[in-house]
Amino acid sequence: VKVDAIVIGSGVAGVSAALTLKRRGKNVLVLTKNGGATSVSSGAWDFGPIQGDASFEAMYETPAWQALYRSVLVDASELANPSDVVASCEALAKDLKVSFNFKRPYLLPTSSGKWKRTYGAQSLQVKADLNALKNKKVGLVASDRWRFRADLIRKNWMSLAELQGTRLDLEIVPVEAPSSQGDWPLPHIAARFQNDSAYRTAFIESLRKKVTDANYDTLLFPPIFLEHDTAEQVQKELGVNIAECLAGAEPVAGHRLQKNLERLLQKLEIPVIAISQLQAETHEGAVRKLRGLTKQDPNWQEWEAPFIVLASGKFFGGGIELGYQKVRETIFELPCYLDRMQGTKQYRSELDWRDTRFADEQPWAKLGLWLDQQWRPRGTNQQPVLKNVTAAGSIIGGVDFARESVGLGFFAYSGRQCAHVLA
Ligand SMILES: Cc1cc2nc3c(=O)[nH]c(=O)nc-3n(C[C@H](O)[C@H](O)[C@H](O)COP(=O)(O)OP(=O)(O)OC[C@H]3O[C@@H](n4cnc5c(N)ncnc54)[C@H](O)[C@@H]3O)c2cc1C
Repeated sequence: VKVDAIVIGSGVAGVSAALTLKRRGKNVLVLTKNGGATSVSSGAWDFGPIQGDASFEAMYETPAWQALYRSVLVDASELANPSDVVASCEALAKDLKVSFNFKRPYLLPTSSGKWKRTYGAQSLQVKADLNALKNKKVGLVASDRWRFRADLIRKNWMSLAELQGTRLDLEIVPVEAPSSQGDWPLPHIAARFQNDSAYRTAFIESLRKKVTDANYDTLLFPPIFLEHDTAEQVQKELGVNIAECLAGAEPVAGHRLQKNLERLLQKLEIPVIAISQLQAETHEGAVRKLRGLTKQDPNWQEWEAPFIVLASGKFFGGGIELGYQKVRETIFELPCYLDRMQGTKQYRSELDWRDTRFADEQPWAKLGLWLDQQWRPRGTNQQPVLKNVTAAGSIIGGVDFARESVGLGFFAYSGRQCAHVLA
């Protein structure tokens, strides 16, 4: 199969690249495995660590952000400017129905139970921004089994409001959902709510009377409970605003973001092929062919394109593997750098992302590809290894994505820029 461009990976970076290429008239194909970091993230879009309530532009001008963006983009720093970043995320956000506010950051609860500031989030989360709930009557939906989580969430919201000197009227709304099949863990209930109509009806009915009696302005639901469409439906049925409370809850809203990204590819008729293995054939410093096994077909298939965007993610996505003996980029064997001056280093880690130490300083988190000005990965001689491969997303090195809060926002931007270079 011959196309104009192939994007490897369907996380936020890959989809952002694919959409940009498609909109510039390119015939683009996405090859991907399962969901990566995008699907386990909180779904709140990070561009860098935020302190205070400054606008995106003001934050961008701080030395800390300048250094951060330079360290990720290395020599391509002239490509990074606030209006590019804002424009690229707004382009994607429009399609995803995601809300951004670059004038001031939203304050959102996250899946780790902490609060964070972000310039962009999924709409349901944005509604749960503390500022949007001030002076409203808010109900927090909980059943017996997840009541202990709801108490924790309520405590978090209330203490934050108190710190900010605002009033938050937040009470727990117990829901009596049938529990013969268990109403824990949350992903299980979420699936039942979406697929089992009897369960859903009982759930909604149990809420309806309480909502009417108490006259809530907003109901907070646990994350992943509501798909975007389901949320709209529930909102209509109950006649109340629906938002999402994340703090202290297990599953994360990135799951929904990933689904919405995939829907977007479908809507724009960008073909996506699920592969289980991918290999490259190179010739004179360029990739000539990609060869892979798809999940349906036992025979190897081949794809050709003059340009390839590598957006296979880091450890969660599978773009980089930390083995016992070596660190490797999995498809093209590109060298991974710990930072721009050092050579390849080898680390091993068995840290779980829910571990609170996840966000501590960790050298391996900074590890990744070092790019040239055209976003092409460099080799050990600092020259681009493959003429026709650019890289986007968390596979780029130079920043500790967890600790320095460089996530979805920045990587959506990188995907678009990468595609611009090609187009
Ligand atoms: C636990 C956790 C929480 C986070 N929370 C936040 C947050 O709250 N806010 C934020 O902004 N950022 C957050 N981040 C960071 C952010 O999620 C990632 O940086 C971002 O999602 C990376 O996107 P990506 O497209 O580069 O990679 P990924 O989303 O990892 O996507 C990689 C894609 O490449 C595919 N792939 C991999 N190998 C191959 C192969 N060989 N062939 C074909 N396809 C392949 C995978 O299937 C996947 O589709 C978090 C990250 C983690 C791990």
